Amino acid sequence: MDRRRGRLTASVRVGVGYDSHRFAPGRELVLGGCTIPFDRGLDGHSDADAVSHAITDAVLGALALGSIGDHFPDTDPQWKDANSLTLLAHAVGLIRDRGYAVCNVDVTVIAEQPRIGPHRRAMAEALAPTLGIATDAVSVKGKTNEGMGFVGRGEGIAAIAVATVEAL
Ligand code: MG
Repeated sequence: MDRRRGRLTASVRVGVGYDSHRFAPGRELVLGGCTIPFDRGLDGHSDADAVSHAITDAVLGALALGSIGDHFPDTDPQWKDANSLTLLAHAVGLIRDRGYAVCNVDVTVIAEQPRIGPHRRAMAEALAPTLGIATDAVSVKGKTNEGMGFVGRGEGIAAIAVATVEAL
């Protein structure tokens, strides 16, 4: 890192992202680019993929490029029911334009139901090509909220992601 020239010259940078969506009946549950069998989906303007949204915010955050809402406003009909991997791909393109590539991603999915564990591998495999990295550079972990708060009451799902990016 060259501190004299400012943080944008750092060869490795990190970003964090968070997202949550409430459950809604009659929608598909999409997490990490995968459709997961469940009796409810998540409500949102796009496909409401909270995992992809948290990762998108982490990628944008690594280069201080704002948040997903800045780039894909939920008032824009273009993003209605959008596949969130498309949004993530756009964010990856933005950092590539600035000479950076994603190095690795770690995401925690917080849900009382459904169980995330059986879908971890499929999510990593769906996310990796969009991020331009190997599947083993994508970590997906599931947790419950021990019955506490909105997640604990089964009202929705939250996700927290960290992304590291490196200068090409
Ligand atoms: Mg979202």
